[in-house]
Amino acid sequence: MERAVGRDSLRKITSRWRRDGCSIALVPTMGNLHDGHLALLRFARKRADRTVVSVYVNPTQFGPSEDFAKYPRTLEADLEALHAAGCDLAFTPDDACVYPGGLADAVRILAAPSLSSVLEGQRRPGHFDGVVTVLARLFNLVGPDVAVFGEKDFQQLLIIRHMAEDLGYPVAIESAPTVREASGLAMSSRNRYLDRAQKAAAARINAALLEAVHALKGGAASPERVERTGEEALSREGMRVDYFAVRRASDLAVPGPGERGLRVLAAAWCGQTRLIDNVPVD
Ligand code: AMP
Repeated sequence: MERAVGRDSLRKITSRWRRDGCSIALVPTMGNLHDGHLALLRFARKRADRTVVSVYVNPTQFGPSEDFAKYPRTLEADLEALHAAGCDLAFTPDDACVYPGGLADAVRILAAPSLSSVLEGQRRPGHFDGVVTVLARLFNLVGPDVAVFGEKDFQQLLIIRHMAEDLGYPVAIESAPTVREASGLAMSSRNRYLDRAQKAAAARINAALLEAVHALKGGAASPERVERTGEEALSREGMRVDYFAVRRASDLAVPGPGERGLRVLAAAWCGQTRLIDNVPVD
């Protein structure tokens, strides 16, 4: 596995690959890699001749009261895991490489308003602007044919698809399913903040989502009723629920009666840790 920290070393490697006629897949991450990230890498390896995994904790997608400073940074272990999983290039830029004009003066992109103002976007103002901004940089730096994202961050996936299309990036946005612990808890770098009891409670998020799917498929319960039941189930476990929502999977709109193609999405606080998860209905 090769490693690039700056733009020049990155370009040298990707230009060589291009000269050899190789296609490139990019898997953007913030590091502290787990099996969910590695599943994206495995997926990417099937989609292109060469894989790049970027590891960069992007400051512009964190709000002022969020966990940027304490976000887990485990670069050495990440590099070992990437090497073992057959990654071709680990791209580990610093702020100066991603934001050469300085963070304070960075040119920013705004995520599509309709997709980014609801659910996560409502609770984390500016978050998705930071996400599309860093991805624009990463796409320009790496020049991938394919970029792979997890369904775990379903709203982010929709926003990135829209961004790539709207800005005309010649990159195919692909997605891979959420990887879970045996308990159903979606793997996340933030799970390491949880103690044992919190981890057990957090597993209820996925259980409640699956119960919601079951109820919706049964057809007896309305989406509003299903949302209330889910919220109550998580509150009973001591979680503070940001949302438990049944939405149209294509654009996150509130579904009309009898509509198909739905997704159930939830965000809840387990102690000081905010967790998200979602599942498809059909
Ligand atoms: P992050 O490092 O949290 O920014 O995530 C980097 C990428 O990994 C994103 O595309 C996430 O959606 C994806 N990801 C995170 N957790 C999982 C998971 N449990 N299963 C599949 N993909 C995941």
